[in-house]
Amino acid sequence: MDILNIRSKNVYKKFCFYKSTPPTAQAKWEGNYPSLLSEWTKIYSLPFKVTLDTNLRAFQYRFLNRIVYTNYKLFAFKIVDSPYCTFCKNEAESPEHLFFFCKVADMFWKEVLSWIALSSNEVKDISDVSFGKFNINKDFIIINHVLLLAKFFIYRYKLDKKEPSLDVLRLNWKLLTNKNFMLLGTMMFFQSIMLKGMHLFRFFLNPSFQYITWSTRFCRSIHNIHNI
Ligand SMILES: [Zn+2]
Repeated sequence: MDILNIRSKNVYKKFCFYKSTPPTAQAKWEGNYPSLLSEWTKIYSLPFKVTLDTNLRAFQYRFLNRIVYTNYKLFAFKIVDSPYCTFCKNEAESPEHLFFFCKVADMFWKEVLSWIALSSNEVKDISDVSFGKFNINKDFIIINHVLLLAKFFIYRYKLDKKEPSLDVLRLNWKLLTNKNFMLLGTMMFFQSIMLKGMHLFRFFLNPSFQYITWSTRFCRSIHNIHNI
């Protein structure tokens, strides 16, 4: 470290680097998906790049740390009466089954992918749904936001013992987008009062502002195509 240009922020980062240990769930994921070994930084940061919604961010944090409990685990803890899937009731409800392999989830994903004009082949395995889709150049933010929102919906509907529905997802997408508009509008108002010149310019380079730009474009295209 350059002692002449040393800053407290850099020292703090260095200390954190030596003190931090990877979450235990990470080793378990890597056992199932060895290709994740060098991908964790972008996997952990993805929710902060693609959504402003704190519920979605918190949900993905819990999912990555394997603390989104399904019936299989809850049954072992004697919290529910059956380990079977809430939707199909045919197989044990592991996270993999609930979010991807269940026939109800499979049908829901097909509808969601069709809505955002992606073919099922483009989201071809469970790792895209679990960790995010990185190998895309176009509409990266919107596609990953919708994948995260749809996964959250499956879980929320499982808790309510209902099957997830694309219509409700689309309605929530509109509400969420409006909420983000209001939030970002408020942020812009205070930014404009408190900051001037370069600071304001930096705000327009911020992922939050880029998000709203993407959201607007996506909603407009969805309006044109599907007339929601
Ligand atoms: Zn099922």
